[in-house]
Amino acid sequence: MGINRGRILRLLLNLVLVWFFTFRLAAQEVRIGLFDDQSAKTIVFHCVGGSYHAYGDSEFYREINIGELIYVSLMDGKLLLMDGELHWGAFNRLEIKEAASGSNFRLKLVDPAWDPRQYPGSLEINLFHGTIQLINKLPLDEYLAGVVETESGSTAGSEFFKAQAILCRSYAIKNWDKHPGQNFNLCDNTHCQAYHGASEANPIIHDAVLATHGLVLADQSSSIVSAIFHSNSGGETQRASDVWNSGEEYLQAVLDPFSLGQRNAQWEKSISLSHWKEYLRQKCQSDISKLNDDQLLILQDHRKKFFILGNDSIRLADIRNDLMLRSAFFSMERLNDSILIRGKGYGHGVGMSQEGAMEMASQGFSASDILRFYFFNVQIIEIDDIPVSGLPDGFK
Ligand SMILES: [Zn+2]
Repeated sequence: MGINRGRILRLLLNLVLVWFFTFRLAAQEVRIGLFDDQSAKTIVFHCVGGSYHAYGDSEFYREINIGELIYVSLMDGKLLLMDGELHWGAFNRLEIKEAASGSNFRLKLVDPAWDPRQYPGSLEINLFHGTIQLINKLPLDEYLAGVVETESGSTAGSEFFKAQAILCRSYAIKNWDKHPGQNFNLCDNTHCQAYHGASEANPIIHDAVLATHGLVLADQSSSIVSAIFHSNSGGETQRASDVWNSGEEYLQAVLDPFSLGQRNAQWEKSISLSHWKEYLRQKCQSDISKLNDDQLLILQDHRKKFFILGNDSIRLADIRNDLMLRSAFFSMERLNDSILIRGKGYGHGVGMSQEGAMEMASQGFSASDILRFYFFNVQIIEIDDIPVSGLPDGFK
């Protein structure tokens, strides 16, 4: 009896712990700043699913049901709200809270004009430095489904989406406090992670996010990694320290045959020889006029960090940015007065190649295989296994 009672007690304790952690993670909400760089002056909120309760300066204002619109404009330092029945009010702060779970709304910026985007969760509208600040408050996993779709589209294998979901979750948690003093955790553009609203009811993406619920990518000391990815490596990834002044050990160069033959594996661009010479004259200390034209050409069989010209060295990542090239992995060929640039890959080349990872998934590799291929010596672990000291203040 004693043993049985002990077993039952342990089982109950385990159930309570599982419930507690599951509930805590499921309840984890994230605050996303929408159109933070747009200085919004007029917006339209359109309820397209469920229902909402609007609060003006914390007082209940009205219910918003499917099909109903709310217009909000900035006027005389107040948020001027007007609904479809021409009722209006002026507030310092508006909160449009989800009144039924699974509600969603369409948000349209009228001034400046943007196409509408659809979001799950609630919307906060604040006055912030003379503009309308928009904050989407929603469960972390729903945000991640939207990010995965925005960052990688909706046509790939499930193991790819799982790998991408783990990376996006790792990024979100590691950068939880990236906007201090702005009242939200992350913005919706590439400064943080691109988030253009709800994943469009794509079941594969939702399942991938749920299947990896609570999982992040960590190094051997259980610190969350910098979850870096790009579109296509062109056949080999690049060491982080070759692109930025950071040297994460897990971001090494790997030979990546999976990216070859994919959509963004190759590109070409022409520039004039005179333009290139002018660029080099600006960048180099030494006199390049003594060199013949062919000595000015960049050749890369494998990715290099610098283009060396006499005593000068120019970082290839800088040349990529300056010339607005798709990648820093390219070679040049002179054709009379012009230079043909033949490039490989798309993006900075560090971390996971999305197209390579999609190909790995289609060949039967798992999300874990994919992440361990692109990141050196990493582990996939639960957020709860990250030491509290390794989590951002706001996330603890
Ligand atoms: Zn940001």
